[in-house]
Amino acid sequence: MTKSISLTLSPEQAANHASLAGIAAKQLNIETKRIKDFEILKKSIDARKKNIKIVLSLKLFIDEEKPVAESFITRYKRPLSKKKVLIIGSGPAGLFAALKCIELGVKPVIFERGKPVSERKSDIAIINRPDTANQINIHSNYCFGEGGAGTFSDGKLYTRSTKRGNVQEVLEVLVAHGAGTEILYDSHPHIGSDKLPGVISNIRNTIINAGGEFYFNTFINDIIIEKGKVKSVISDNGNEFEGNALILASGHSATDIYDLLSSKKIQLEAKPFAVGVRIEHPQELIDAIQYKTRKRSPYLPTASYKLVTQIKNRGVFSFCMCPGGIIVPAASKPGELVVNGMSNSKRNSPYANSGIVVSINPDDLQEYKKYKFMAGLKFQQDIEKLCFESAGSNHKAPAQRMTDFCNSRISSTLPKTSFNPGVVSTPLHELLPSFIAQALQNGFRVFGEKMKGYYTENAVLLAPESRTSSPIRIPRNNEMLYHEQVANLFPSGEGAGYAGGIVSSAIDGVNSAIAAINQHC
Ligand SMILES: Cc1cc2nc3c(=O)[nH]c(=O)nc-3n(C[C@H](O)[C@H](O)[C@H](O)COP(=O)(O)OP(=O)(O)OC[C@H]3O[C@@H](n4cnc5c(N)ncnc54)[C@H](O)[C@@H]3O)c2cc1C
Repeated sequence: MTKSISLTLSPEQAANHASLAGIAAKQLNIETKRIKDFEILKKSIDARKKNIKIVLSLKLFIDEEKPVAESFITRYKRPLSKKKVLIIGSGPAGLFAALKCIELGVKPVIFERGKPVSERKSDIAIINRPDTANQINIHSNYCFGEGGAGTFSDGKLYTRSTKRGNVQEVLEVLVAHGAGTEILYDSHPHIGSDKLPGVISNIRNTIINAGGEFYFNTFINDIIIEKGKVKSVISDNGNEFEGNALILASGHSATDIYDLLSSKKIQLEAKPFAVGVRIEHPQELIDAIQYKTRKRSPYLPTASYKLVTQIKNRGVFSFCMCPGGIIVPAASKPGELVVNGMSNSKRNSPYANSGIVVSINPDDLQEYKKYKFMAGLKFQQDIEKLCFESAGSNHKAPAQRMTDFCNSRISSTLPKTSFNPGVVSTPLHELLPSFIAQALQNGFRVFGEKMKGYYTENAVLLAPESRTSSPIRIPRNNEMLYHEQVANLFPSGEGAGYAGGIVSSAIDGVNSAIAAINQHC
């Protein structure tokens, strides 16, 4: 028989998996040897009190062996029909769409403007060095290349999109391709930037081995539409590729795709988004605040936080918090500055960083009204350009101590930061649009009240955190997921405005593939 139980343990007890069957047996008052095996279903931390507890849900196999799970990869071993689904972009949306196509017996053809992950690594290394940070490759950077923005991301897999699709299936696919099994039960699963590239290249190999096609260094610069349907796509080297449907999963940084669609009179619309800064604290301080102790137990993960408040009816919130991580240069072109965060699987850097952003509605941007649905994008680009220029036009980031920012004064010194290209002291309270700066100033004070010790001169702000989500949506039919003007065009993932993050983009890719195949293959 199987039985589910919950154990509340010390961090040290919970880390020792060999002892769990004994503890479970004691709780059930049965002999340990009757527990043949167990599976961890959920792991969460209860840090409300000083005496921190780990809560584990276990499925026990009592007096019976655990069944051997069928290899996940077998579902990608079926013959493919002659029908083709074209996919622009190999980010989470594109890759998971491709896997679903294979599962449903249809050939995916993926076009990726950037390089395979192993080659992409050296372009990422170049933009992380102060002397070469300006040598940004417009097709190979933190946003573009195999695996999209997901590859060198932090790899947090927590999502609220549980109603849109099967989150567990996405996690299982990642585990089948090399991610650790703990992502299946951790309440806040995380892969890490050191492990993601391997997982992504394994997914690519599954797709190719199953008969899918992959074209790297292939920038799609035209979509041929005839009689209300996509006929083909054209790459920058002039090749034309025909297919039965097109999944457009180009991510939120591919602004050239918005220009292309707009030039073809394909409808786009403005959507809310958020802009702000990335804040960095010493990780030890965040550990001390969250775990209420001077030194974190080695059995506890580096601490994270989630903060949210309303300032004059405007949301101010933390975004993509990276404990034990670093701040990275995430621009996709020369002349712009964008910061973001990531961490390795061990989350062992001495820094804790997080985006702190302010929500923006299309109505807030009256000065940009003339740009219509592109207003948010133009606003975002202007901030990125301003931040780039204000810090010397060499990809260093403008920075300010949090307390100086809140008190509207220039920082005479800056703490050491994890941002490798370097920082320049800059009055961000003057540089950022005033409605953003003021909301952040008030927001930080509120956060300092919520988390005693958070408001400190040892925290530094880097700007801008501008690519939290797309300011544009490519509208589509709610149920059938196609663009109402083009029957076989399926806008998908973050760039289409229907997802934010790795898992929700992957789920959207899966849903787009099912819709495309049901309707056109
Ligand atoms: C530094 C960083 C850290 C992040 N951390 C996290 C995190 O911890 N957790 C999380 O959930 N999310 C995180 N994200 C966000 C996450 O990576 C994105 O939400 C996700 O990758 C979006 O998936 P997507 O498939 O929709 O688009 P993308 O991943 O952006 O992929 C789009 C792909 O399309 C390609 N492309 C674009 N235009 C063309 C064209 N014309 N022709 C051919 N190819 C094209 C691009 O090269 C790219 O590979 C992070 C992002 C960054 C940059």
